[in-house]
Amino acid sequence: MEKRFIYADNAATTAVSEEVLNAMLPYFRTAYGNASSIYKLGRDAQRDVEAAREKVAKALGAEPREIFFTSCGSEADNWAIKGAAETMAKKGKRHIITSVFEHHAVLHTCEYLEKHGIEVTYVPVSDKGLIDPEDIRKAIREDTALVTIMFANNEIGTIQPIAEIAEICHEKGVLFHTDAVQAVGHVDIDVKKMGIDMLSLSGHKIHAQKGIGALYVRKGIILPNLIHGGGQERGKRAGTENVPAIVGLGVAIENATKNIAERNAVIIPRRNRLIDGILQIPYTRLNGDRDKRLPGNLNISIEGIEGESLLLMLDMNGICASSGSACTSGSLDPSHVLLSIGLKHEIAHGSLRLSIEDDTSDEDVDYILSVLPGIVSRLREMSPVWEKMMKGEAYE
Ligand code: PLP
Repeated sequence: MEKRFIYADNAATTAVSEEVLNAMLPYFRTAYGNASSIYKLGRDAQRDVEAAREKVAKALGAEPREIFFTSCGSEADNWAIKGAAETMAKKGKRHIITSVFEHHAVLHTCEYLEKHGIEVTYVPVSDKGLIDPEDIRKAIREDTALVTIMFANNEIGTIQPIAEIAEICHEKGVLFHTDAVQAVGHVDIDVKKMGIDMLSLSGHKIHAQKGIGALYVRKGIILPNLIHGGGQERGKRAGTENVPAIVGLGVAIENATKNIAERNAVIIPRRNRLIDGILQIPYTRLNGDRDKRLPGNLNISIEGIEGESLLLMLDMNGICASSGSACTSGSLDPSHVLLSIGLKHEIAHGSLRLSIEDDTSDEDVDYILSVLPGIVSRLREMSPVWEKMMKGEAYE
C-alpha cells in the first residue's frame, strides 16, 4: 500500500482549523485593539471577546459570566483546585478527593496542596478504567472541600459517570470540578443538567490554537483571584486579553459541539474497525471499557514490544500516534494510567494510543491495519522480552 501521512494523535493536540484561523487573523493586524481601551478599536475587541465568551457558555449550557478565559487547560485545573482548596480551608475544610488516573495537571496540583496542609484521597479505577461513584461517596468526609474527577481519560479515553458523581457531591454539600479537556467537543456536556460546579477545557484539543483555555465556575462559587493586576476577567485573572486566541476558541467550541452525534456516527465504526483489526495481532488487549470511551480513542497493549520503538516505526510509515510510556517527560516510567487499571509494567510499556477524528478515512484505517502487524513482528523479532515470553521464561 502506498505510504500515507496519518495524524492519529488528536488527543495530544489538533490542527487549527481553517475557520478558526480565518476568524483569528484580523485581530493581529487590523482589529488589534486592547479590549480595555475606550476607543472603537478597543470596544470592538471587547465586544468580540464577549461574543466568544457567549459561545463557550452556550456550548456548555452555562451563562457567559460563568466563563473565565485562561491560558490553557492546566491553568484552569490549577485555578479550580487550588482556588477551591484555599476558599474552603478558611471554612475548616481541608480534604480533596480525586482519582489515581487524572492528568498531571490535576495530580501534581493535588501533590502541591498536600505539601501545604491539604489531605487528598485518591480513589481507584476499575480494570476497565471506570470510577465507581460509590467510592466517591465512601471517601467524602465532613471536611471534604472538593471532588475533582476527569470527564474522560486522556490515555484510555474512558468516560466517567460525571452526573452521578456530581449528584453525590451535592447530596453531601461538596463542590465538584471536572477536567473536561478531552471530553469537550466529543460528548454532549451540559453543566447545569449534569450538576457540574467547575469545568476545565482547552482550545488546542478542539482545533483552536495552543495556549488558550477556559474555566467554567458556577455562579455563587467564589474563587480567589488567580492573577492580580488589571480588571480583566472581572478582576479575577488580570492580563491583557489574548483576543485572537479567545475569538478562535469561540469559533472552535461552536464547531466542535455542533453535530457531535453525526460526527461520532462516522468515527465510531472506523475506530471499532481499528480496534478489531489490531486485536487480530496475537498478545494484544484493549485498555479501557470498549463502549464507555471517547469515540475516537483506542488504546491497545501489544506484548513484547517497547512503545517508543513502535512510535518511531509508525512515524517512519507516516503515522503519528502516542504510547503509554511517559517519553514526553523524558522518563521511561510506564504511564500511571495504565498501571492504575492493573497492567504490569512491561505490558504498559508496549501500549499504543490512536486518537482519530472524522477526517481519518476508511483508507487511512486500511493503511494503519496494513502496516502495523509487520512493524510489531519486526519489533518482536528484535525483542529479548518477546523471546523470553515465547520460551515461557519469566521476564520483568
Ligand atoms: N487535562 C487533560 C485530561 C489533558 O489531556 C490535558 C492535555 O493533554 C490537559 C489537562 C492540559 O491541557 P493544556 O495542554 O491546555 O494545558
